[in-house]
Amino acid sequence: MTELNKLSLAEARDLLRKGETTSVELTQSCLTAIDAADALNAFVHKTPEIALDRAKAADARLVQGDAPAMCGLPIGIKDLFCTKGVASQAASGILEGFKPEYESTVSQQLQDAGAVMLGKLNMDEFAMGSSNETSVYGNAVSPWRRGNDDAQLTPGGSSGGSASAVAADLCLAATGTDTGGSIRQPAAFTGITGIKPTYGRCSRWGIVAFASSLDQAGPMTKNVRDAAIMLEAMCGYDAKDSTSADLAVPNFEAMLTGDIKGKKIGIPREYRMDGMPAEIEKLWADGAAMLKAAGAEIVDISLPHTKYALPAYYVIAPAEASSNLARYDGVRYGHRATLEAGDGITEMYEKTRAEGFGDEVQRRVMIGTYVLSAGFYDAYYNRARRVRTLIKKDFEDVFAAGVDAILTPATPSAAFGLGEMTDADPVQMYLNDVFTVTVNLAGLPGVSVPAGLDTQGLPLGLQLIGKPWEEGDLLNTAYALETAAGFVAKPGQWW
Ligand code: GLN
Repeated sequence: MTELNKLSLAEARDLLRKGETTSVELTQSCLTAIDAADALNAFVHKTPEIALDRAKAADARLVQGDAPAMCGLPIGIKDLFCTKGVASQAASGILEGFKPEYESTVSQQLQDAGAVMLGKLNMDEFAMGSSNETSVYGNAVSPWRRGNDDAQLTPGGSSGGSASAVAADLCLAATGTDTGGSIRQPAAFTGITGIKPTYGRCSRWGIVAFASSLDQAGPMTKNVRDAAIMLEAMCGYDAKDSTSADLAVPNFEAMLTGDIKGKKIGIPREYRMDGMPAEIEKLWADGAAMLKAAGAEIVDISLPHTKYALPAYYVIAPAEASSNLARYDGVRYGHRATLEAGDGITEMYEKTRAEGFGDEVQRRVMIGTYVLSAGFYDAYYNRARRVRTLIKKDFEDVFAAGVDAILTPATPSAAFGLGEMTDADPVQMYLNDVFTVTVNLAGLPGVSVPAGLDTQGLPLGLQLIGKPWEEGDLLNTAYALETAAGFVAKPGQWW
C-alpha cells in the first residue's frame, strides 16, 4: 500500500469511511514526512499536538458515522490565515510572536468540515512576491529539480510553502491565497492544482489583508477532484466580510462529469506574448487540442486591454497594501523597535516599520503611498482603476458572446532557480504574473492544471478562466483537461 501521506483527499476520505485507515494514522504519516522535509522549508510552524488531537476527534466521529466532508483529512494552512493561539505571521518580521485570539473564517470552516491542521506554511512576506523569497523564514524550496542538476528551484509564490508541501506529499492539501496569481503560479511550478475562486466566494475575514479588492483564498491540491472537495468546504457567505457573496455553495464534486461537449473555449490572442518560450506555446496548443478532442469548440477571442493589466495591478495592489499595512505600527501587535532616549512616537513608528518589514514590502508601501498621494492620485490610482474596469469589460464581452471558459498558459515559464530573479530588476519578477493578474482584476475564477513537463523535466500548468460564480463548471472543464493531459509525474525524493 502507498504511504498514507501520498494519498489524495478523495482517496483518503474513501479509505477513512470504509474504516481501512484512521485519521491518526494519516496524520502521523504526514507528520513524519514533514519532519523529514526540513530542507524544503515548507512548514514554518508545526502543530503536531493540535493535529493529533483533531485527528482523534475525527476518528471518533467517523466511528459514530457522522463524519463531515473533510473529516480526518490532514492539511496545511498558509501563514496568512489567522489561526487561534497558533503563530500567524504572514511570514513577516513585523508580526513576530503574534498569536491571534481568533480563527479565520476559512480555516474555521475547514476545521468544522473535520480537516486536521498540521501546521502553518511558508509564503512571501504579506503575500508579496512570486518566488517565496521575501519570507522572513527564508525561502521555501521546490521538491522539483532540473534533470540531474541539484540547483534549488523556487516553488513559486506567494503560496510557495503550500505548493512545495502538497507536491512533496507532506500534507494531502493546503490553503493558499491569490491576489495576483499566488495560488495558480506556484501550483503550475510544482505540478499541482490550484483554484482562485470568484472574488467574494471565500470570506476574507481573518486572512491578513494584502490588497483587499483582489485577495481570495482557495485550495491547492493534488488533483481537480480534491480542489472541488476542498473549495466547497472553504467557501460560503460570511457576514463578517462585507464583500462576501450571499450565494448557495453547490456540490462541486458532483459536477465533475468530464462532459464538456459543446462548450466554447476561448483562446485570447493578446496572451500570445513576444518571446514566449516555444514549449509554452506548444503546451497551450496541446491543451486546446485536448479540449477539442473532448468535444469542446475552440474559438479565437480578443481581450484588448490585456497589456495594461500588469501596470494597473502594480498600482492598485501596492496602493491597497500601503493602506492595509498602516496598522503595523509597533503598538498593537508584533515587533517593536528598541528606542533610544529622546525618541518619540514618530521614531517608534519609523524604526519599527524599517526593522519589521522586508525590502519588497517597503518597496510596495512606498509605491502605494506615492500613487495615492494628492498630486498623483488621478494620474496613477484613478487611471489604474479605469483600466481595471476595461479589463473586466473585456471578459464580460467575451462571456456575453457565448464563451464558457478561456484557456491560457498559467505562467510564462517553468520554475526558475532561487536567486535567479531576485538580483535583477524587481520588474522581472512582476512580469511572471502576466497571465494571472487579469483574473484578479476582473474578480473571476481561475484554475491552474498541471498539463506537461518542459524539456528539463519541470512541470508546466495551463490556466482556465471561468464565468463569475461558475466554479463548478470551471472545475469540470479542468477535470476534462486533467483527464486528457494525464499528468502523473512526481519529483524524485532528494530531501
Ligand atoms: N506575485 C504577485 C505579487 O507579488 C501576486 C501575489 C499574490 O497573488 N499574493 O503581488
